[in-house]
Amino acid sequence: MDKHRYDEMGLLIVKEDFCCEHFEPDAGALVPMKECWSCKWSNFRAEDKNATSESYSVCNYVGNAKESVNR
Ligand code: SF4
Repeated sequence: MDKHRYDEMGLLIVKEDFCCEHFEPDAGALVPMKECWSCKWSNFRAEDKNATSESYSVCNYVGNAKESVNR
């Protein structure tokens, strides 16, 4: 289970089209596809697009953070 990558805060790094069982649709997503992009736990829509080099974001769901992986 070491294939996941985490940022410096220990948050799971996700791609736009990734999805997990904790998906919850974001209220601001018009078309809530089951992807991290439209999940309320990701930062895709909160970030300035110019600040992101690629289509990656982080997952804010605590159950996916690095610390809870090591429980
Ligand atoms: S943003 Fe996080 S909780 Fe939401 S689907 Fe992606 S990995 Fe799962």
